[in-house]
Amino acid sequence: MPQSLATRYPLVLVPGMLGFVRLGFFPYWYGIVPALRAGGAQVFAVQVAPLDASEVRGEQLLAHIEQIREETGADKVNLIGHSQGSLTARYAAAKRPEWVASVTSVAGPNHGSELADHIHLHYPIDGVKGRLMSALFHVVAWVMGVLETGYRGPRFKADLQASHHSLTSAGVALFNRQYPQGLPDTWGGQGAAEVNGVRYYSWSGTLQPGITDRGRNLFDGTNRSCRLFARSFVREKGQCDGMVGRYSSHLGLVIGDDFPLDHFDIVNQSMGLVGKGAEPIRLFVEHAQRLKAAGV
Ligand code: CA
Repeated sequence: MPQSLATRYPLVLVPGMLGFVRLGFFPYWYGIVPALRAGGAQVFAVQVAPLDASEVRGEQLLAHIEQIREETGADKVNLIGHSQGSLTARYAAAKRPEWVASVTSVAGPNHGSELADHIHLHYPIDGVKGRLMSALFHVVAWVMGVLETGYRGPRFKADLQASHHSLTSAGVALFNRQYPQGLPDTWGGQGAAEVNGVRYYSWSGTLQPGITDRGRNLFDGTNRSCRLFARSFVREKGQCDGMVGRYSSHLGLVIGDDFPLDHFDIVNQSMGLVGKGAEPIRLFVEHAQRLKAAGV
């Protein structure tokens, strides 16, 4: 077996809001886990509460890390979080830096999501639209919980309000005050590459007309949703992946922030339907090489 991606510490993949490991035959990290394993990496795709605060999910992640450390004998892990999974990973690294070699944010709303702000403003939770949306999210979370086969532990409670608050600019600003590790000092800048012995990295994409909305994405509902969601952006208008702005995603060493990938393409969703010429799996493979070269 080739060992080009055999990092010193296991890779732990942390999903975003409404995340999962596998729904039936449908994995969250489509094609990514097998590609990393083929290169000799030890990979764990873990499940945390699909709808809850980043701190709650972070505590659940710490329990996973504890178990992985026991199982593998590794002292530390490399955390790679998608979307809210990034905030979840940042929390875990802030609490137990001695367990974490690196945190990588993939399309993480590290300064909040303008989509979440828009929903907060236009769909207040005590209004009719807000209540309808809340009911819909709870049904979706319940159905996904039933379909989820990769996780056999206790089911999670759903707290949509906490989940939503964890993603708004105001909510993330509060979170950032407590857990600032790896954040840039200036808007659009890069953060420290290493804090408390933990390395920080990030990458993200943007919607690029004629590229992200073409190719196999033509048939992809999530891409259509992203294009619709992008209309709610003001500060980073035209510079977002549909759910997270380009600069909002910055954390630690910024590997890139304008890959032609929407918020779902970046984890090769749905089922590898991505825009013209986009290669989300390659970014994960290259990152495993990067971590290996860094000795973590
Ligand atoms: Ca897609």
